[in-house]
Amino acid sequence: MAHVAVIGGGISGVSCAGALAELGCTVDVYDRGHRLGGRLATQTLRDTGTAYDGRPVDVGASYFTVDDARFGNVVGDWIGRGLLCPWTDTFHIADGTGVIGTKIGPMRYAAPLGLRSLVEDLAGALPSDLVEIRHPFDVTGIDVGPDSVRIADREYRSVALCGPDPQMDVLVPFDHAPMWEPVLALVAVYDDRTWDFDGAFVNDDPVLSFVADDGSRRGDGAPVLVAHSTPVLAAGHLANPVTAAPAMLAVLGNLSQGGVPSWFTVKRWTYARPAHARPEVFAFDGIVGRAGDGWAGVPRTQSAWVSGDALGRAMGEALT
Ligand SMILES: Cc1cc2nc3c(=O)[nH]c(=O)nc-3n(C[C@H](O)[C@H](O)[C@H](O)COP(=O)(O)OP(=O)(O)OC[C@H]3O[C@@H](n4cnc5c(N)ncnc54)[C@H](O)[C@@H]3O)c2cc1C
Repeated sequence: MAHVAVIGGGISGVSCAGALAELGCTVDVYDRGHRLGGRLATQTLRDTGTAYDGRPVDVGASYFTVDDARFGNVVGDWIGRGLLCPWTDTFHIADGTGVIGTKIGPMRYAAPLGLRSLVEDLAGALPSDLVEIRHPFDVTGIDVGPDSVRIADREYRSVALCGPDPQMDVLVPFDHAPMWEPVLALVAVYDDRTWDFDGAFVNDDPVLSFVADDGSRRGDGAPVLVAHSTPVLAAGHLANPVTAAPAMLAVLGNLSQGGVPSWFTVKRWTYARPAHARPEVFAFDGIVGRAGDGWAGVPRTQSAWVSGDALGRAMGEALT
């Protein structure tokens, strides 16, 4: 029975672990976070001085779309159990001065308890006799030998690196990583709902790129917006993200017509997304595998799941 380490407890790492376990491997999943989920990140509002303390809000990915059959099965199961809901197929289009139109696209899915709950659901379904989840555990070094891998005091047949290239390449170097872009996510709680959109793409604006109505995607109608910055704005404020808030709030005010929020916070994503994803679905050299949304063609949640699942199946078949 092959013993495999998975670094990363985001959706790609958890899907990889599931596929490995299905093929009979024993797996240790490492994540540095107190909770799994990675960039499917849901925080609980606290000390806001509003009625919304205790409410979850998505501060990473806003939603996802689905057109892959295998991922579609997982999504169908989540929908059937009420963990995931169709949110909207219609977003507004805005510029920095206000909303200027609408655009219909694919159905976007959102989770009433937050997108993190989906990763936690997948992890909770992993067989505990085969899979050990080790977190918070910051993996600071991996010794790769000719036919084994050592992490801290444990030895493995193989390791799967599942997450952003800049975080994984420091553990085992790899060539030709795409550029990864930063994003700031500003969460704003208002007294009232003053806007009339589910989400808005902000075009040609130096400050904001997207705004989501967290009350509509969560289904409770709370007056909460989450605004994503442009990568350029984020790059200039990574050391102290809150210094970007005045510019972000000004544009958000133009879109929401909502004035000053009762409370806000700014979350930093140094590695929010790759500028492009490699066309290959994953990489595996017989010892080290790599997966995540830097693979499988398009940088998005579905690609991360697909990439992790495909890597896990390929490793499992090669090792067992
Ligand atoms: C602001 C933002 C907006 C987004 N919007 C969308 C969207 O609208 N639609 C969409 O489909 N996708 C969106 N995404 C992308 C989506 O979140 C990702 O595609 C997906 O979550 C990637 O999952 P992953 O498992 O590959 O990586 P991650 O979720 O990043 O997981 C990697 C994990 O590895 C862990 N880790 C890293 N280094 C170590 C270490 N040394 N030791 C231990 N653990 C480690 C991290 O803690 C993390 O949990 C967005 C992302 C962000 C940040």
